[in-house]
Formats: sequence, structure tokens, C-alpha cells
Amino acid sequence: MRKYKFLIVFILIAGIIIIAKSNQTKNLVNFVSNLNTVTIKQNEKYTICIDPGHQLKGDSDTEQMAPDSGSYKARVSSGTAGIATKKPEYELNLEASLKLKHILESRGYKVLMTRESHDVNISNMERAIFANENNADMVVRIHADGSNDSGVTGACILIPSKDGQYTSGIFSDSSECAKYVNENMKNNGFKVNGIFERSDLTGFNWSKVPVVLVEMGFMSNYTEDQNMASPQYQEKMMKCIADGLDQYFKNKK
Ligand SMILES: [Zn+2]
Repeated sequence: MRKYKFLIVFILIAGIIIIAKSNQTKNLVNFVSNLNTVTIKQNEKYTICIDPGHQLKGDSDTEQMAPDSGSYKARVSSGTAGIATKKPEYELNLEASLKLKHILESRGYKVLMTRESHDVNISNMERAIFANENNADMVVRIHADGSNDSGVTGACILIPSKDGQYTSGIFSDSSECAKYVNENMKNNGFKVNGIFERSDLTGFNWSKVPVVLVEMGFMSNYTEDQNMASPQYQEKMMKCIADGLDQYFKNKK
């Protein structure tokens, strides 16, 4: 009986070696790796600007909410903080944004960050102008929400308003990208409350390039705050955003 076992194992190993050495298998491996190289090469022409929301200290000095506008808003608000983790939003936003940067770069995209540290002072208008000047093909703004009601949960995707005086030109591309991100997040088990058009965000009104803002979830909810602090949870959500971007750009080719 033992002899047979040995023989079977030997035949299996020999079989695996033969298959691995065969040209067909080699061709298949080459084909798959070439496909990957082609995708990476195609992505190289796209620049994605990631804007991790907020910074160490908010800046209540005001700036124009939109070009030629009489309305002014704080340069950067201070953001929210975790009810369970006590983590400030600006920290969470940068953690997640750096994961997204890593994923996108591994897929060949050129990635620009509005900030990679906390102790900066870059207003929302300045962040938008940075993306404009670098001709970003898409801007992804990463934020987290807060509510007085600790029972409120779920991600929200914000895009520039279709009818906004300053944003109608970037609505269509932003909206298309948001739909792909939304689908991917939902398909991977994330609760998404919807895609919301906004005409009151300085960072949208100054943008000349398409932009999507992802509110990852509510830091005011105990469980969601703890979930968002987990590197695995962040990685999974950022992968959904990256997959959404992949689909968006595939359709642009
Ligand atoms: Zn925020």
C-alpha cells in the first residue's frame, strides 16, 4: 500500500514538473504578464491627484468659495475625530490616501498628493488649483464624516453639482467615475448612502478637472470609527476606489 502511495505522489510531482515546463504553460504565463504590462503602460498617461482632507490645524481665515464669488469660507476646516479611537480625521484621511497612492502607483498611474504630512497649511482652493495646474485626469478627495447622531453610518460620495455655475463642466466625468466607485464599494460589502451633488464646496468650485470626494464613513459611529481605523478595512476600501478608477479610464480609451 505504501508503495502505491509513493508511486502516486511521484507521478503527481512528475506531472506538475512536465506541465510547468511545457511551452503552453510558459506562453500562458507570458501572456498574462504581458497583459499586465500593457495595462500598466496605458495607465502611465493618467495623472491622479489625491487630496487627503484637512491638516493638523484648521485655518479659519477665509477664501473665496468660487472664482468671482462674493461668498467666503474658511481656508481649511478642522475636520472631525473618532468617537472610539479619538483619531483626528486628518490622520485617518492621510493613512487611507497613502494606501490609495500605493495601489494606484502599482497599477502604473502617476499619482500626485496635495499633502503627505500633517503640519501643512494648504487651503481647499489651493488644493484645487494644484490639481488644475498639474492637469490631473481625476482628483480623489478622501474624507470621513461626523454627525451628532451616533447611529448614522455609511460612506457618501460627493461630486460637483450638475447645475453649479462653476462645476457644470466637470460634472459628467466626475459623475461617471463616482458611479464606478459606488458600484465597487457596494459590491464589496460597504454601505454607501449615495452620490451627492454639491455646489457649496470650495474645492469643487475652483476645480477645472473632474473630482470625486469619498466620505469613507462616520467617525461619530463607534463601530464604523473602529472599522475605519483598521488598515485592512482601509486597504479594502481604497482598492474599491482604485478599481472604480480603472473602469472609468478603461471607458475613456
Ligand atoms: Zn472632512
